[in-house]
Amino acid sequence: MEMHIALVPGDGIGPDIVREAVRVLDRIAEIHGHSISYREVDAGGISIDRYKVPLTEDALQTAAESDAVLLGAVGGPKWDHVLGNLRPEKALLGLRSGLGLFCNLRPAVIYPELAAASPLKPSVIAAGVDLLVVRELTGGIYFGEKGRNDDGTSAYDVMRYSKDEIARIARKAFEAARLRKRHVTVVDKANVLETSRLWRETVSEVAAEYGDVSLDFMYVDNASMQLVRNPGHFDVLLTENMFGDILSDEASMITGSIGMLASASLRNDSFGMYEPIHGSAPDIAGMDVANPIATILSAAMMLRYSFSLEKEARAIEDAVASALSDGVRTKDIAADGEEWIGTAACGSEILRRLG
Ligand code: NAD
Repeated sequence: MEMHIALVPGDGIGPDIVREAVRVLDRIAEIHGHSISYREVDAGGISIDRYKVPLTEDALQTAAESDAVLLGAVGGPKWDHVLGNLRPEKALLGLRSGLGLFCNLRPAVIYPELAAASPLKPSVIAAGVDLLVVRELTGGIYFGEKGRNDDGTSAYDVMRYSKDEIARIARKAFEAARLRKRHVTVVDKANVLETSRLWRETVSEVAAEYGDVSLDFMYVDNASMQLVRNPGHFDVLLTENMFGDILSDEASMITGSIGMLASASLRNDSFGMYEPIHGSAPDIAGMDVANPIATILSAAMMLRYSFSLEKEARAIEDAVASALSDGVRTKDIAADGEEWIGTAACGSEILRRLG
């Protein structure tokens, strides 16, 4: 297969971690007979320095012309004084909205070797945690009409969803579940919210197309408890924008390892943008101590969701799991007194396990 990938290294540790992910992608391509071409795109602080804006039209255009985007991270203290629409993070919003990405996937996995980093009790995570939060990104209360009354003493934010918006993300969740344990949990507040009732109705209709995937519903207050009480219940957790914003952060925190968490933002075709959930970690930039695994796992998600290369995606995930079980650690995931290695060395250990 031929893959055209836009690389957005960004700022801080971004270039270091994207470099390792590219090494892994190149090795996978070599082993499995694919060809990959890359075009590098400036976004965030580096783009502000060069072009005075966090994302140029040209950069967006290059990203849009690719099959998928792999992004490191943007931002840092150098640009903290920059205001409003010129802030580095605006590049992310520009890419997400400019590319029409409406579906956010955030896996949360607790690897047995790193279980001690989880703030949850060993008994709670003993059965394993491997869940995927599917969050709607472009609708709901964040994008609804908002305002205040004339004297400013009351305010409103409107939450609105259409059946089409719900159905398209429901399909993404069911498709993702087919590559996993085939279970979708819709998280909502259907006892109170009409939008939630529309979600239940619409997802149930879509579920009829996916007879091989089981479906259940959970109120968001209960889901936030179950994530810390019985996280093993979840396979794919499907939810609207605001609930997803909150629950995806909660799901990440229960793993305890920010340097390990990947994400994908998708739209209806195979195009997607893939990035670690962490930021540009300016405190460790250029020190060869950043953990590249979140970005490497983001590259695995790219192979799975944009190129349907499940075998190749699994090969990367297995190489990461095997490196961890052999004791490979970067500084952030090393226990006290445990030996650790740098960013590039960690990339090499994963590369070696790809074959
Ligand atoms: P951060 O995620 O960059 O860092 C938080 C802590 O986690 C730091 O101690 C950092 O060293 C550590 N860390 C993060 N990623 C790591 C990795 N791969 N390996 C080892 N340690 C890692 O969050 P922050 O400090 O709040 O933000 C720093 C900058 O990043 C800010 O400018 C912020 O706006 C930006 N940011 C960007 C994104 C993004 O590009 N998606 C997301 C969040 C924050």
